[in-house]
Amino acid sequence: MIIEPKKNCNICLRLSNFRKENIIKYPNYYNKPVISFGSLSSELLIVGLAPGIHGANKTGRPFTGDHAGILLYNTLIKFKFAIGSYNSEKLDSLQLNNCRITNAVKCVPPKNKPESVEANNCRTFLKKEITNMQNLKVIVSLGVIAHNSIINCFGLRLKDFKFSHGKSHKINRALRLQNSYHCSRYNTNTKRLSTSMFEDVFRKIELSL
Ligand code: URA
Repeated sequence: MIIEPKKNCNICLRLSNFRKENIIKYPNYYNKPVISFGSLSSELLIVGLAPGIHGANKTGRPFTGDHAGILLYNTLIKFKFAIGSYNSEKLDSLQLNNCRITNAVKCVPPKNKPESVEANNCRTFLKKEITNMQNLKVIVSLGVIAHNSIINCFGLRLKDFKFSHGKSHKINRALRLQNSYHCSRYNTNTKRLSTSMFEDVFRKIELSL
C-alpha cells in the first residue's frame, strides 16, 4: 500500500510550483515531499504542520533543521521516545522509539502556511498512515491544523472535538488524540508554549502507554 506521496507529487499545484522554484534556488536541498520518520509499528504518532523551507525541506526529515525540532526532539529524548542525539543536519544518531513523526502537509508551503485545500489533499496519506499503524494508541496533534486533519481522517465532527492545548480526546476504544500547541519558534518566543507545558504533554502520554 502506498502511504507516502510520490517524489514529484503534483496534487497541489501551488506546492509543486513552489518546489520547482526551490529546486532552482536551493539545488542542494532535499526539495521533495518529506516522508515520515519512525516505525509504522509505533504506539505514538506525532502530527506536525508542514516542513520548514530551510529545515525539513532541506534535510528531508520531519522537523530536522527547523527551530521547532529543537524542543520536539529534546523532549522526545527526555521521555525516551527517541534515543541518541539530535542535530539539525540529520547526520545524527537519533532513532525514534515507539514513536513516528509525520506532517499534515508533506511539502513545504510558501510563507510556512499551507492552505486548507492542501491539508485536505494530503490527508489521503495521513489516513493511510494511521490505518497502517496497527499498534497506534496515541496521536499528538501539534496545532489546530494537524488536529482538524486528524479529526477529519476519522470522519468525526470538528464541533464535537475542539482543539485545546493539553486536552486528550477519545477517538475510539483503542485510540486517543492528545492536543498540544505547535512547538514553533513563534509559540515559544511569545510564551504561548513553554518547555514545561510541552513536557507535560509527553509526561501524560508516557503514563497512558
Ligand atoms: N518542521 C516540520 O517538519 N513540521 C512542522 O510542523 C514544523 C517544522
